[in-house]
Amino acid sequence: MYIKDHRLQGDCITQYACPKNTQKIRKHIALVLHYTANNNALKAVKYLTLPGVNASAHVIIGRNGEVYQTVPFNIEAWHAGKSELDNLHELNHFSIGIELVNQGKLIFENNRYYNWHNKVVDSKDVFIKEDPNTGHRSFWHRYTPVQLAMAKEVTWQITNHYHISKVVGHSEISPDRKLDPGEAFPMDQFKQLVYKQNINRKAGR
Ligand SMILES: [Zn+2]
Repeated sequence: MYIKDHRLQGDCITQYACPKNTQKIRKHIALVLHYTANNNALKAVKYLTLPGVNASAHVIIGRNGEVYQTVPFNIEAWHAGKSELDNLHELNHFSIGIELVNQGKLIFENNRYYNWHNKVVDSKDVFIKEDPNTGHRSFWHRYTPVQLAMAKEVTWQITNHYHISKVVGHSEISPDRKLDPGEAFPMDQFKQLVYKQNINRKAGR
């Protein structure tokens, strides 16, 4: 996998157009990770590229590791909304957005797990987070190993190509209104990946 003309190149990548996005990114500062809150990559691609929908993303990664790019990396996508990071506001101007197909936070009721529109989620796909202080438990849709592996590869390519040193979840830049990518997402691994990459870059390795 590599990047050419602001598009990912490789066997597992499918490219789409998203004509509603035309504004140039001002500066590549951050990469923002999200979940789609749905269960189907192509549906997410179709929705996010609709002209009348006020949301979009650069890349959508499905549960089988399939990768769709809809917006070139030099163009703004509408993934961050009202947001703040290190005194920068409106992160769409300064960031690349990746959506992972995942149903997000779940509800546990009558011994079953439900997504946000009351569909049952198999218990083997549920990640349980217990707060070490309060003992409070929350329930999240798991990401798949192949999806996370592909997300790491895409993250590595983008942050390397654009010299991006900050990888954040949507919930970090819009904490009052967003939960994604949620507790089931191994955010530390992604931050570590980019941290190491930056050290190597500065050392000229
Ligand atoms: Zn988001």
